[in-house]
Amino acid sequence: MRLRGEAAAPGAAVGPAWIYRAVVPSNGSVGPAGIGLELAAERAAGQLQALADGLRGAGREEQAGILEAQSLMARDETLLAAARELIAAGSAPAAAVHEAGEAIARGIEALDDELLAARAADVRDVAARIGRASSGHVLDLPRVPSIALADDLPASIAAEIPNGLLLGIGLAAGSPTAHAAILARSLGIPAAVGLADLAAYLEAPSGPAGHVETGTVALDGFSGELLIEPTSEELAAIGRRVATSAAQARAAATLRGRPGATRDGRPVRLLANLGGPDEVDRALQAGAEGVGLFRTEFLFLGRTRPPEEDEQARAYAAVLGAFGPDRPVVIRLADIGGDKEVPYLGLAPEANPFLGLRGIRLARTRPELLVAQLRAIARAAAATGTSPHVMAPMVATVEDVDLFDELRREAARSLSGDVQAAAGRIVAGIMVEVPSAVWLAPELVRRVSFMSIGTNDLTQYLFAADRTNSALAPYRDTLNPAVLRAVAAVVDAARPAGVPVAVCGELGGTLDGARVLVGLGVTELSMDPGSIDLVRAVLADSPMSDLEALAEGLRRGPTAG
Ligand code: PEP
Ligand code: MG
Repeated sequence: MRLRGEAAAPGAAVGPAWIYRAVVPSNGSVGPAGIGLELAAERAAGQLQALADGLRGAGREEQAGILEAQSLMARDETLLAAARELIAAGSAPAAAVHEAGEAIARGIEALDDELLAARAADVRDVAARIGRASSGHVLDLPRVPSIALADDLPASIAAEIPNGLLLGIGLAAGSPTAHAAILARSLGIPAAVGLADLAAYLEAPSGPAGHVETGTVALDGFSGELLIEPTSEELAAIGRRVATSAAQARAAATLRGRPGATRDGRPVRLLANLGGPDEVDRALQAGAEGVGLFRTEFLFLGRTRPPEEDEQARAYAAVLGAFGPDRPVVIRLADIGGDKEVPYLGLAPEANPFLGLRGIRLARTRPELLVAQLRAIARAAAATGTSPHVMAPMVATVEDVDLFDELRREAARSLSGDVQAAAGRIVAGIMVEVPSAVWLAPELVRRVSFMSIGTNDLTQYLFAADRTNSALAPYRDTLNPAVLRAVAAVVDAARPAGVPVAVCGELGGTLDGARVLVGLGVTELSMDPGSIDLVRAVLADSPMSDLEALAEGLRRGPTAG
């Protein structure tokens, strides 16, 4: 059986399926090791905190934050009081906490708010964990290397799977920007999301959560397909693909240490996208020539108050110091809003968060947050003797650039000595990810030192198609001429001004995307470190004239061809 979905992390894997199903407990589900509600909730909270500590120790701050918030939820009185009432009416603790969790999650979902949808999933996950603790049910984690299949894979479950036992991830829900997909890319394993019919398949066989199926599945993270019980021919084809991709990866790795360039020597700087300081080693190993996008949201998410300046400065210094004064590091101001919820800011709920108070727009109501971030960046720059690049996300107008300039001036005014001097060394740029910025590019280039095109959001906004909605995959084609013409318009505006144009959206890390973008005149590509080797190799094999011809053809065509 062949299930089609969306490619979310490259590679291919063949192995047994490990199926994660959230168990729906019944009233008879108290096992011999069953314990009361309070103890179960304490145990669940402790487990989640221990997992969060482990992740934090490994530098995985963003995931640690999610689990820490869940640990607090496990002790939440609203959840526990509702469960206690159901127990008093005769329910078993596991069934009671499940029902109480469901009611809260459904209440959250009824608000029909994209931001809160993830919170509903977190509540269900916490309730399931308390339920398992109270009924003595132990989740059967994979014991052999397996491909995880699930409707959605909660962060807390993914964190429990021992290193090396997760070969790939296939999800019925989600999009390539889903949490589990990002995790897969950072682990270097394949993933496919939005797999049509997987939900029905997961429900069909009866069995406990975490049951290791005896059957074999093959996950193709290049095409976004999952083959269940593949035939020997299909398996052979996948096997060839795995072997070819491994051979390609080995061959590509031999070029490490060489700077990115086309076959005829046109330089293309290959940079890393980082989600936190823990990813620095992967980027250095892959031969990244710098960092083209350091996403700083991990410092702000999954906590109860904003990060202190000290904590921020340490995180920025870790990355700036690792790359030193000669390799650029582009730190992006926190891109809060959209699908990245920060409850402690107390922002008013929005009907359309992706069109709301997101990125640089936050400076219109909470400028002090971004000023504090800029101060922390200046401190990190002073400590490491570097000149950081800083870019503002979601710039839509010339006034947004003025706002960014004012934030930097305010940060510099509040500093003194070396740190103030370091603030003056900040190289300022913007992300181009809102269609208005494409058409204002001739004005914007006069005000900034660099531009970086965010094709993930630019595509979402050009096609008016929510990037997290798996039903809208047909509108996520980043090679559509509408996207390519926008990229070309930015390059054409920036070139005469001598302003470099990078692409830091996912498109730049794909082989076709990298070739087309360089053909359009983009001179820097920033991507997940796992993609750098292959992109370097494909460019080294491509004369510039071929890339220009390819880009020209696609850009003029009516469709993505
Ligand atoms: C983008 O929008 O392409 C981008 C790189 O930013 P993010 O994915 O973090 O929104
Ligand atoms: Mg973006």
